[in-house]
This record gives sequence, C-alpha cells and structure tokens, in this order.
Amino acid sequence: MLVVQKYGGTSVGDCERILNVAKRVSETKQKGHGVVVVVSAMSGETDKLLGYTKFFSRLPNLRESDMVLSAGERVTSALLAIALEELGFKAISLSGRAAGIITDDSHTKARIEYIDVARLNALLAKDYIVVVAGFQGVTKEGEVTTLGRGGSDLSAVALAGALGADLCEIYTDVDGVYTTDPRIEPNAKKIDKISYDEMLELASMGAKVLLNRSVEMAKKLNVNLVTRNSFNYNEGTLITKEQEIMEHPIVSGIALDKNQARVSICNVEDRPGIAAEIFGALSEANVNVDMIVQTIGRDGKTDLDFTIPEVELENAKRVLKSFEGSVESIDYDKDIAKVSIVGVGMKSHSGVASKAFRALAEDNINIMMISTSEIKISMIIRLKYAELAIRTLHSVYELDK
Ligand code: ADP
Ligand code: ASP
Ligand code: MG
Repeated sequence: MLVVQKYGGTSVGDCERILNVAKRVSETKQKGHGVVVVVSAMSGETDKLLGYTKFFSRLPNLRESDMVLSAGERVTSALLAIALEELGFKAISLSGRAAGIITDDSHTKARIEYIDVARLNALLAKDYIVVVAGFQGVTKEGEVTTLGRGGSDLSAVALAGALGADLCEIYTDVDGVYTTDPRIEPNAKKIDKISYDEMLELASMGAKVLLNRSVEMAKKLNVNLVTRNSFNYNEGTLITKEQEIMEHPIVSGIALDKNQARVSICNVEDRPGIAAEIFGALSEANVNVDMIVQTIGRDGKTDLDFTIPEVELENAKRVLKSFEGSVESIDYDKDIAKVSIVGVGMKSHSGVASKAFRALAEDNINIMMISTSEIKISMIIRLKYAELAIRTLHSVYELDK
C-alpha cells in the first residue's frame, strides 16, 4: 500500500513534535507500506516570514514573497528526514521543485498544473521515505511559487492523486472534522464520514481543518482522504462519496469565516453592463467576490453590496478607485463574519433556513446578508456575535446530540 501523510504546523511545531512525527511515520513504514510525507512549516513560522516581508513593503513583490514563504516548509522537511535517518530509516527531503510539482505563475496563490512523479517513484522503489516540503511548487521556468495559505493540504492530495496512493491522511491537532470548530463550541461532535461536497462547502465557508481546494482535488481524483489527530490514535474522519454514506443528517456542520470584508457601493448607475464592469475589474485583479446583493433600482440608480476575503481589501480598494467618480460612495467594512450551515439533507427538507433566522433573531443578532445554495445557507452578521451565533445554531440543529 502507498500512503501519503501530511502533518500540519502544530504537529511539527517544535523539534520534539517532529520527532513524534518521525516515530509515527516509521510505524507506517514498518507495516510494509510505501510512505510519502508532506509537511507544513512549524506553526507560526509562515506568519513570521510574511511579517518580515511586510516590514519592508505594504504590498511586497510576490515573487520575492514566495522565495521567503517557501523556506518554512523546507526547514521542517529536512529536519524530519534527519530524524527518520537517525531512527534507522532511509529518508530524503525534497523541495516542491525537487518533487516535480509544477504550477502556474500566480505567485502566492499558484495552481498546480501537473506533477512529474518520476523521481518520487524512483525513490519509493529504492525504499526511501520521501518527505516533501508542502505549500510550494515551481513554474515551468523554474520560479519558486507557493500555493496559498493552508496549501500543504493541497500538496498532499495532489501528490496522492498523481502517485495513485491508496490513502491520503491529513494529520492535524484535532481528531478530525467536527460539526463545528471544537475550539468555539466544546460540544461539537466528531463526524465519522462526510461527503466531498459537504466538506468542500464547510472548508470554503471557513472550516480550516482542510483547505477547500484540497477537497475539490480529492473529489476530482478520487483520493481516499482521512483527517486524523497526530497526537493520538483515535479514528479520524473519512471524506468520501455521498453514496458511501448511509444516513445524512439535514445539517452536517456549521462553519465560521471571520476573514471577510463587505464592500457597499451606493447609487451605481442601473444599466446593462455595470455589474460586468465592476466585477470584471475585480476578477481581473484576482479578487474573489462571494455574496452579492443588488437592491431594487430607483431613479436609474441601484446599490451593490458584496463580500470579499479580507486579505483582498487593499487590492479591491485599488481596483474600485476608478469607479469612485461615477457612484455616490464606496464603503468598506471589516467588522463582519460569515456563518454558514451545510448539509446535503437540506436538498429534501424545507424550513431549515427559517429555523436559523428565528434562532438568530432570538439572540438579537441582525442578519446583514443572506445567500443560499442547494446544500448551504450563509449569513453575514456583526463580527462580535460570530461565536454566539455558531453556538446557537449548533444547538438549534441539535448537532451536539
Ligand atoms: P494544520 O496546521 O494541521 O493544517 P489548521 O489549524 O489549519 O491545522 O486546521 C485545524 C484547525 O481547524 C483546528 O484546530 C480547529 O480549530 C479548526 N477547525 C475549524 N472548523 C473545524 C471543524 N469543523 N472541524 C475540525 N476543526 C475545525
Ligand atoms: N505553512 C503554510 C501556512 O501556514 C501552509 C500550510 O501550513 O498548509 O499557510
Ligand atoms: Mg491547515
């Protein structure tokens, strides 16, 4: 069997923890499996490196940022290889480049185009434990790239897919995927099995236990994905096809995203093409727009409200400057949070949304924006109520039972 194991920042947070990881990896190897390990940087390291770049510039050069940010994972991968050798195993660390991970050139949020697995396979054939630095790749021209925050999950799934691995295990600091973030709601329950689609929605809506793009890729490449705790041996969560799960609760989980910002454009001309102009300019600048609300037009004018990731705020401001003359005002609001309810069971049940609205009303929480899809309801509320809303919704849908 070939297993890809990914260990996140907390799991490799210091030398003792890297040694613990080395022992766990060696246990898998001793069972006779081929093992590829993907590691994150030590926890806090990527933030620290990012902080260094921001010392010199508000918008640091992205190519140079990638040279800095990719260093964290290089360190842990080599330390783990040293630890494994010391335990008596053949081990080698590889940077993203050495592992053949080829990406496009969107620095700091590159997409993987393909993986040349020849060297990896040759090393596995020689019985090496291969330790790959997560979160990074290289363009065809040889420029170092990073995959976006949380990107080591994607490195692991992409490698598992490209190598045809039997299993991809994501080791983190909680037992698996919970009904909501267990750090916010201690009564959250661990989920044994969840569908790719539900996990994708939860991850996209802020459950950072898995990177959404890694779930999307796992679904596409049919990767057997499991999340587990690197600090114990408890059963984790299996992320699998919807058909493999016998019973679906109406609501599977609740996600919180505090890193959103709202943009409100007041008195925009209400004519064909205006949305295309505004959102076209934003998309050209790689700003991901999420919820969009347009009010009913009056006197040939309308208001546009939408949300973007908070990290894109400066970028969005720069883009929207060119529209300032033709609208009444553009306001930016970081003091918001998005709470989302996710479940495939919603498809066949009514009244799920109204239950949420009533529960938040009883807590006196105002809902500023709403959007729904087949298996998700998202609401924008004031940031200070975020945790209260999560706990309220968690108990309203009886997820603690
Ligand atoms: P790693 O460094 O291992 O990649 P992350 O910090 O990225 O770990 O993700 C794990 C964290 O995700 C947990 O500590 C937990 O607080 C948070 N989290 C948010 N939502 C959930 C959820 N639904 N289930 C489990 N963990 C969640
Ligand atoms: N170290 C990177 C980050 O903090 C990537 C990862 O941990 O997945 O975002
Ligand atoms: Mg992570």
